[in-house]
Amino acid sequence: MRVVAGVDLGGNAINYTVVNGEEQFLIEGLCEHPALSREGPEVCLRQIENGLKIAVEKAGVLLSDVVAVGLDTPGPASAEGVLSARGSTNFVHPDWAGFDIPGNLAKRLGKPVNYLNDGNAGALWGHFNIFGANSRDTSISAVIGTGLGGGVIVDGNVVKGRMGFGGELGHVLIPYQAIGGIGGLKPDCNCGRTGDLESLCSLTAIEKTLLPFFLPRYPAHELAKLGDLHKAAKLVRGLAESGDPMCQEIFRVQAHALGLFFDEMVNTFDPDALIVGGGALETGDEFQQWFLRETRAGMPAQRREQADIPIYVMPNGDTAGARGAALEALKLARLNGLA
Ligand SMILES: [Zn+2]
Repeated sequence: MRVVAGVDLGGNAINYTVVNGEEQFLIEGLCEHPALSREGPEVCLRQIENGLKIAVEKAGVLLSDVVAVGLDTPGPASAEGVLSARGSTNFVHPDWAGFDIPGNLAKRLGKPVNYLNDGNAGALWGHFNIFGANSRDTSISAVIGTGLGGGVIVDGNVVKGRMGFGGELGHVLIPYQAIGGIGGLKPDCNCGRTGDLESLCSLTAIEKTLLPFFLPRYPAHELAKLGDLHKAAKLVRGLAESGDPMCQEIFRVQAHALGLFFDEMVNTFDPDALIVGGGALETGDEFQQWFLRETRAGMPAQRREQADIPIYVMPNGDTAGARGAALEALKLARLNGLA
């Protein structure tokens, strides 16, 4: 039996999946191991290899059945998966600087390893869920987490770009002044831009920008008494879902920011689907549907021909990276005659 493995290497955990030639995933849900990336590449790669042995067992296949591996990580890394020489928040050990993760993993495993950044891998998974394998469709995925990641799939292919920065959707500027109720707000992003998508639509934006803007307007709010913006930011989603007016207002601003961004994508790509994923929408169905309606409400009026472009919620957030990476590796393995 020939299968392809997907390995999602995050800051704290490694997630695995195994997919067969019929695009069936052989592991239900999460197969997770601690990442140990703080201890540097040597320890971490050994950890990946050990975890992979457990994962294939769980999938009911042998390690020798794995013909290729798809790997995804947070960036910044090159299109081939060489980490930035200036380091990365998720790979702080000095030995990671400029480290070629897929190249070294391929040597260790004796199998080809294909690399994607985590946003692009998640986007591929979201796309596959809607359009299935071998699709020629176009979709834009925005994944709202600590930052804002995502990806662009054009005619079924993920856009990696010249240096691997394709699909860095969080740093696309949006006309945020068009959002109601935030007059005077100056949303600065960690990247140095003011008013890009991530500066308004991410957990970081809630902590750095939206809570400091809204809390003085709701001085009696329970989050004002907490006195800790980092902790408070993590509570906003739950409070919004349970009907808290200030927290709903924060999510409305995020949804409208996303709507402005999707409008830019509609005019750039005329896509078949828009997809939203990430921790922000790990909520009940009712809140998800409200968020999608607000996203649409934040979009300027669309051409009649484009008014029905659907907006979906990406399923299975935790497994998205590993599954997307596995699907891309399966596609390449086929092209190379391995699967
Ligand atoms: Zn930015």
